[in-house]
Amino acid sequence: MTHSGTLIKIGQLWNQGRGASYREELDITPDLGSDAHLTKPITADLFLIRMKDGITAILENLHTETELTCSRCLAEFCLPIRVKSTERQFFEETPTRDYDPFEVFLIDRDKMAIDINEMLRQEIILHFPIIPVCSERCKGLCSGCRINLNITEIHLPECKGDQLELSEKAEQSHQPFAKLKDLFKSN
Ligand SMILES: [Zn+2]
Ligand SMILES: [Zn+2]
Repeated sequence: MTHSGTLIKIGQLWNQGRGASYREELDITPDLGSDAHLTKPITADLFLIRMKDGITAILENLHTETELTCSRCLAEFCLPIRVKSTERQFFEETPTRDYDPFEVFLIDRDKMAIDINEMLRQEIILHFPIIPVCSERCKGLCSGCRINLNITEIHLPECKGDQLELSEKAEQSHQPFAKLKDLFKSN
């Protein structure tokens, strides 16, 4: 069986009849659109099973990496994605019963192939964090002057966030232990 990108030829499997199966190790770099920009190829074990009215496609041990934007500092960062197991049905014909059009995939009867691109895209987006952060320690942007606090502590002039921080520092300097620390530093 051959595939080019996410398009997988199933003619041979189809002709073997119901219950026939096929397995392949995938290592592909598909274009999943602007909302799922991959920074590493997708590797996964692909299993295909010929059913009565279609093909069941199972992906296991899927690994890849995507680029996301940090919700605190707006920097782009890479996030590893791991999917243990997922499956979709590719039908020979559009099912007559009620179905979710996002979850129904069809076999390309002209090419005798299935395209797993949309399956991959859905599954990867599903594994995005609800609130992406580049690091749990990310300090984000100053709410006053929008400087990136991971990079600099120098605020723009007239920034109230800066004043707030200075007053916090002043308070800290009144703590006896802070002074003790300074004594140790000077020795
Ligand atoms: Zn960040
Ligand atoms: Zn500021």
